Amino acid sequence: MHIYIISEQESLLNHFLAEIRDINIQKDRMRFRRNIERIGEIMSYEISKKLAFQSIDVQTPLGIKKTSVVKDPIVLCSILRAGLTLHQGFLNYFDTAENGYISAYRHHPTNDDFFEIVVQYQAVPSIENKTVLLIDPMLATGQSIEAVLKKLLLHQTPKEIHIAVAIATPEGIDYLKKHLPANYHLWIGALDDGLNEQKYIIPGLGDAGDLAFGEKL
Ligand code: URA
Repeated sequence: MHIYIISEQESLLNHFLAEIRDINIQKDRMRFRRNIERIGEIMSYEISKKLAFQSIDVQTPLGIKKTSVVKDPIVLCSILRAGLTLHQGFLNYFDTAENGYISAYRHHPTNDDFFEIVVQYQAVPSIENKTVLLIDPMLATGQSIEAVLKKLLLHQTPKEIHIAVAIATPEGIDYLKKHLPANYHLWIGALDDGLNEQKYIIPGLGDAGDLAFGEKL
């Protein structure tokens, strides 16, 4: 797997990451959502550097300029519900992309820390031979990303797959390296220390979905 950790090079991304982690600043839900969206915008720009481009001639009012635009159709695909704000950031930049949504949640059948990933709702366009950007703010164990990809790829084969996460753990990266093909691209905002017993990212930021949209039952 090709792995890119964007925060290794200092940029505004680190500023936005600091704000979504900060226990006081993150309480402002609107700011939290907008910061995640801004992270999606920066990640889009970074990912675009690895996409295929094609030459075009643009007619300006004063002449013709040879330039380039993204070549392949893009499908942005997000894991509900936490992926929605990061998705919006990607859509702000890949504004002609098609969009897919798929749900995954941690089901605790025995009411303890054990959980299994349940993938249910899916509203996804054709991804055949297209470039798929799979969006999820938090790569914790890697199980939901694997489960979602399994469902997405049941009957279709995209041209390439980029996975985009704001924060990742070493455990999650190892899991994806073990379970996904080597030609996938994994884009990470920042790499954290690991997981706690409940499989939350340490130090992370807490629950990204709750911070963006409020606690659920
Ligand atoms: N999902 C989150 O929102 N936070 C974590 O720390 C792990 C998974």
